[in-house]
Amino acid sequence: MYHILKNEKYLGIYRNKGEEYDNIYPQIVPIEIFDKVRAKVQKNKYGKRSVQVTYLLRHKLKCGYCGHPISAESGTSSNGEVIHYYKCHGRKKYRNGCEKTALRKEFLENFVLETILRELSKPDTMNKVVDGLMQIQEMQNKESPILKTLLSEKRQTETALNNLMSAIEQGIISATTNKRLHELENKLTELERNILIEQSKTKITLSEDKIRKYYEQALLKEPQMLINLLIKQIVLYNDKMIVYYNSPIQTSPDGNSQGFSFYDEIAFMPYIIQNKPTPAMRAIRVILTV
Ligand SMILES: [Zn+2]
Repeated sequence: MYHILKNEKYLGIYRNKGEEYDNIYPQIVPIEIFDKVRAKVQKNKYGKRSVQVTYLLRHKLKCGYCGHPISAESGTSSNGEVIHYYKCHGRKKYRNGCEKTALRKEFLENFVLETILRELSKPDTMNKVVDGLMQIQEMQNKESPILKTLLSEKRQTETALNNLMSAIEQGIISATTNKRLHELENKLTELERNILIEQSKTKITLSEDKIRKYYEQALLKEPQMLINLLIKQIVLYNDKMIVYYNSPIQTSPDGNSQGFSFYDEIAFMPYIIQNKPTPAMRAIRVILTV
């Protein structure tokens, strides 16, 4: 279509190697119409929208039914109003028959922001989050495989040393036992040193206070920053939303974060049925997980 609208052949003009020919094609579009169209195309070159629309939840949403991302898109209603949606990509692009319904951008974004702000502002919820995260940290520390190996080697070395000592006490002493004694003592010193290093690496790095501050400060940010900082992913269903929070705690190197759920309640999300102007309320279960 774009090429047709700028093609001078419709004016009866043909250009080749800098030469202009007007006797090859008949003119089928008057020059006035052609110029008007050119002006209009030029004006629309950078798109009609002058206001940049920010989709706060872009790249954060996943469809709970088919697992595809939920992407942002816009459409024009019958009265010419531009409406922005979040729609399941699997349903839209792959026509996979997914049952996830599209949601109006403003409703979903407001609902998510309000839910986060409301829930994390409750002292009860915050205490649950902090307690849970402290427990995760302790678990991670206990489970350090390097520390486990070092501690078990230390026990073995101590046993060997004890056995050797009782042999010496019974009068069994030779150049070999003497050499072995020194080896074991050196090994024990080395192991104790490594255990200290490993313990300092894995000891609790974030205090309760720091975790609390992390969330409190995130809540004061602008919506986009707040979402970037706090939200890892949101899995959307038609009647349920699971919000995965970012945790301030470094997760284990294998990337398995041990999340926990700290909230599961019915909330109400305003939404519009078939473009009727009054928002209806839809009951939705919200599960917040770290
Ligand atoms: Zn889907």
